[in-house]
Amino acid sequence: MKRIAIIGGGAAGLASATLLAKKGHSVVLFESHTHIGGCGGFFRRAKYIFDVGATTLSPMSELSPLTKFLNDFDIHVDTKNLETPMTIYSGDKKIFRYKNREKWIKELERHWPDIDHRLIWEKIFGLSDRLWKNTDLIENIFTKSLSFSMDPLLLGLNSFWTMKKFLDFHNIYDESYIKFLDEQLIISTQAHCHDVNFLIATIGLTYPEDMVYPMGGISNVLNLIEKKARELSVDIQTRTKVEKIIKSKGLYRITSNKGDDEFDIVISTLPLVNTAKLYQDRKLSKISKKFVGKYSALTFYIGMDDFLLPEESLYHQVHLKKGELLDDIGGSLFFSFSRHDDNSKAPKGKITLTSSTHIENFNLEMNEEDYEKFKKKLKEKFLVILKKYFPNIKTESFEFFEMGTPRTFKRFTSREEGLVGGIPHVLKNHPLLFPKPNILGENFYLLGDNIFPGQGVASVVLGAQNLIKKKFR
Ligand SMILES: Cc1cc2nc3c(=O)[nH]c(=O)nc-3n(C[C@H](O)[C@H](O)[C@H](O)COP(=O)(O)OP(=O)(O)OC[C@H]3O[C@@H](n4cnc5c(N)ncnc54)[C@H](O)[C@@H]3O)c2cc1C
Repeated sequence: MKRIAIIGGGAAGLASATLLAKKGHSVVLFESHTHIGGCGGFFRRAKYIFDVGATTLSPMSELSPLTKFLNDFDIHVDTKNLETPMTIYSGDKKIFRYKNREKWIKELERHWPDIDHRLIWEKIFGLSDRLWKNTDLIENIFTKSLSFSMDPLLLGLNSFWTMKKFLDFHNIYDESYIKFLDEQLIISTQAHCHDVNFLIATIGLTYPEDMVYPMGGISNVLNLIEKKARELSVDIQTRTKVEKIIKSKGLYRITSNKGDDEFDIVISTLPLVNTAKLYQDRKLSKISKKFVGKYSALTFYIGMDDFLLPEESLYHQVHLKKGELLDDIGGSLFFSFSRHDDNSKAPKGKITLTSSTHIENFNLEMNEEDYEKFKKKLKEKFLVILKKYFPNIKTESFEFFEMGTPRTFKRFTSREEGLVGGIPHVLKNHPLLFPKPNILGENFYLLGDNIFPGQGVASVVLGAQNLIKKKFR
């Protein structure tokens, strides 16, 4: 029986370990942290459980690969439907991101009456549906075996221009609308209208409509997958940091802080740059310099009294002005509140808030004093924003209020420079050029959010499904 090593116990590692174990393979999963989860992990403080990074689950329709994965393993995740998955505050507008497409178009017409939203969004919906509905198409892009039929042709053609070019084509130049789209896109594609691949942008823009609330948080979903993996005899070794991988006599020798072991096959789910540090390979080294993440995250975690937010809109996005949070950019803050009845995250009468934003070029070498000052200033600014948009919040009820920085993400996920989120889906990183799981040939595969099909819990699970279906019997 072949032995398979999986490096990293985030969503990609857990999904691939479970799929391989089901096929009867002998799987060892190495996770450097004390527990699994990575960017979808959690931490406990003062009676609360906080999602570290990821908070939203989408897409969760019947056709979604994540739904299929969970169903195939009989993993029941208690999710709550959201009729208004997100509320967006952009300039002076308060925009309800309805799940229902007709209501969503009407909402956009209410805010930007001069734009033909029906025309624009029907194109967006059409392309996004085609991509998600038939994941074989995505797999075909991954294997570069596009057959000549309408769908690949249509999808292919739309992957060669940006969202901005698409808007220009439809004579849309309204800056407030472009800013609104920019902030929607950055959270799911790590890119903005001017450089995002239009095809990928369509998935980013439909992402919110399918968001559901997972009881217990994203980390609970990953904990359930971990449980299933253990039931299927995956050997999950936490606190085990892989330090080196060497190929010798057809086997891979893995050195970790716990010792050495040999495997027939390795799957690394770490960012390319991390894997390149562990395994000397010229191709890997080259590609890890070409496809690099751009952003890290700033996060804020609060445990507090419930302030009775309507259940149908637990996720909020506030578009910021330059200087409102960070000195040099505007950007946006994403707020994820726990449901008032989600007592696995917070005690009765209490809720959690995880809020995050993108950050670039953070100085990881900052001395302790400057770092503490930086955090203090940001926490103060964050509180001003929080009170402005959620005036009913009782700040005096805060039992926990901390923040995470790229330094935190570096420590928590071991990612180089704390870079999270994945490789930006800009035009030059075209899906056909994007690093694929098999770029290193046979027996050493790559997965995770730096590898096609990219970022987010659903996508890295899809990546694992595609690889295992194609390469493992
Ligand atoms: C702030 C933030 C918000 C996000 N929001 C969402 C969201 O709402 N919805 C969504 O779907 N996605 C979201 N994402 C993205 C999503 O979390 C990630 O794309 C996904 O979880 C990545 O999973 P992964 O398995 O590829 O990588 P990771 O989660 O990074 O897992 C890799 C694992 O490898 C471990 N590791 C690293 N080095 C070593 C080593 N040398 N040896 C052993 N183990 C090692 C790490 O500890 C980690 O557990 C968000 C991300 C962030 C940072």
